[in-house]
Amino acid sequence: MFKSALRKLALSVSRAQAFWLTLLLFLAVLVSSVCLLWFLNQAINNERLAIRQRLADACQGQLALARERLALFWKQTSVDLETDAGASSPPSFFSNAVSGGTADAVIVFGTNRVPLYPASLTDLSATERPVLFPHAAAVEPNDPIRASQLYAIAASTNDPQIAAMALQARARCLLRAGDTDSALNVLTNELADQRFLLTADFQGRRIQPNAQLMAIELLTEIDPVQARQRAAHLRAGLMDYGNGIPSAQRRFLMRRLHEIDRSCVFPTLAAEDLADRFLSSTFEIPGDSMVHPTSLAGVWQFTSSSRRVVCLYHTSTLLSKLGHATALAEISHPARIEFIEPGHEREGAFVTLPAGPPLDGWSLAIALPDQRSLELVSNQRIRVYLWTGALSLAAAGLLAFVSAGLMRRQLALTRLRNDLVANVTHELKTPLASMRLLTETLLNSPAPDPQTTREYLELIERENLRLSRLIGNFLTFSRIERNKYSFDFKPTPPAMVLDAAAAAVRERFQSNDWRFQVTCAPDLPDIMADADALATALINLLDNAWKYSGDRKEIQIEGGIENGSVFFAVSDNGIGLSPRETRKIFKRFYQADPRRGSSAGGVGIGLNIVRFIVQAHHGRIDVVSRPGQGSTFTIRIPAAETPAHVHSHELETHPHH
Ligand code: ADP
Repeated sequence: MFKSALRKLALSVSRAQAFWLTLLLFLAVLVSSVCLLWFLNQAINNERLAIRQRLADACQGQLALARERLALFWKQTSVDLETDAGASSPPSFFSNAVSGGTADAVIVFGTNRVPLYPASLTDLSATERPVLFPHAAAVEPNDPIRASQLYAIAASTNDPQIAAMALQARARCLLRAGDTDSALNVLTNELADQRFLLTADFQGRRIQPNAQLMAIELLTEIDPVQARQRAAHLRAGLMDYGNGIPSAQRRFLMRRLHEIDRSCVFPTLAAEDLADRFLSSTFEIPGDSMVHPTSLAGVWQFTSSSRRVVCLYHTSTLLSKLGHATALAEISHPARIEFIEPGHEREGAFVTLPAGPPLDGWSLAIALPDQRSLELVSNQRIRVYLWTGALSLAAAGLLAFVSAGLMRRQLALTRLRNDLVANVTHELKTPLASMRLLTETLLNSPAPDPQTTREYLELIERENLRLSRLIGNFLTFSRIERNKYSFDFKPTPPAMVLDAAAAAVRERFQSNDWRFQVTCAPDLPDIMADADALATALINLLDNAWKYSGDRKEIQIEGGIENGSVFFAVSDNGIGLSPRETRKIFKRFYQADPRRGSSAGGVGIGLNIVRFIVQAHHGRIDVVSRPGQGSTFTIRIPAAETPAHVHSHELETHPHH
């Protein structure tokens, strides 16, 4: 009663201990995990900032490089403009610059800041105009036929300029008179003469191209095929910037020709228009070689260093020029340089930098295409941190789990050891008490009967033996536990071991109700064994056979040889073991039924000692048992091969738990 109460108390104490220790361990892991997570979080934030900063630095460098390239680009542009404008006539320069993509339009200025091309017409005022054909002009409103005749006479002059103007007027009168054929003849034949090539009217307009246009207008109705041919011819002339047609006339003719014949397209017309719009606006030609806005919306101007050439750009053209100029500065994906006009702002720009001269007021900006790309870069780094953190946490968790297991095991062992001490003490008390009772009875009887005395003494001897064996086992176990058990291996005849074990128990096993049978095959080979240790193992097995069998005990011990190994088999007809118990019985302190074990005088270390001894002999132990039908424990030890190597040695083997 007392013992089981004590055990219960010890059990609950150690359970509480285990609980607190596990809780402590859990808290330790929890606290360190929280700290780790905190550090991880800080590290991740720092990494994000660092990556952002690194990227910003790289982008700043990129922008600075872009700014340098822009300054260089404009400088070079200015030099190129000056050189090219000096090398060709203003109209040719205009045409080349526009079709070469230098700008959307260019204007070439003379030294007195007067535009050379495109230029406005030099229109003579009415008072300045000489009155050339007074008679013809007088009759023209009322009698166009007469007027046409008078103009024909006037056209016979040797002065090509006057002749051309007279022919022009004649064609006009013929048309008014309804004589289209004659008018066409004047326009396409007479006026086409080579000597009228450079003739111009009072507004400075070339007469020949105007006459051609007029003819085309007339022919469109009458002879479309010829009209188209003449249109193509006129188109080629208009595209030739070397022929000195004034820009205003060229622009007018281009537009008109395009209206008549849609297939006539003029790539320079837009540039002519833009230049004209610029020149018609209030403009300035600053000499600072900077990019300035003009009074035209969305149009920018850049003046070459000596103010000889003004380039005009639509915003989109300017941006693409800037983009080209800085393309090489774009060092890395995904950063793309953007150009922000003066007074504008780029929302969500990652870094910005003033563009500097000649783009005063402009800024350069880099906006990452999306914030995700930055995240992508940092996420790669962060993933490393997270994995490290996760692995550390997993490792900490695993360690804690393993430690908790070890701790529980250790506590269980401590508990078992405590139990062992309690058990052994209890086991010692029983034989001592019975011996004391027997001796007291003997001493107190005045004339003891010799027969009874003998019986009592035999009983005392048996108890003594039991006591010695118990203490012996306990000492062996303690030595094994401390790694202090030493063996003395010698070539040993198995029969000797068998006899020694049988002799040790024979007296106890002798009874009319019990059968104890010892058999040994003849001529067994020697085994390398510590005879005493092996005998102890066998005695333990015999003891168990005796303890765990009923009143009609049938115990056998047999020695033999099988497959080169000597075996010792101990069989009983006892209570047997279930397969589950069979797997556990060799563990320390294991008792299939502790009540029965302790009543029979056991503490659960006997089989553990047996296994230890057998393994030290390089042997093995097997159990065949069925509940209620008895058990057979078989020890197998390999037969000694070379008796010459006889020696003893100390074995430093841990018992297997
Ligand atoms: P104990 O001191 O309890 O006998 P042992 O280590 O010798 O300790 O045995 C462990 C347990 O194995 C025993 O408690 C018993 O339950 C079981 N056992 C051992 N030998 C036999 C056997 N011959 N028959 C049935 N059970 C046995």
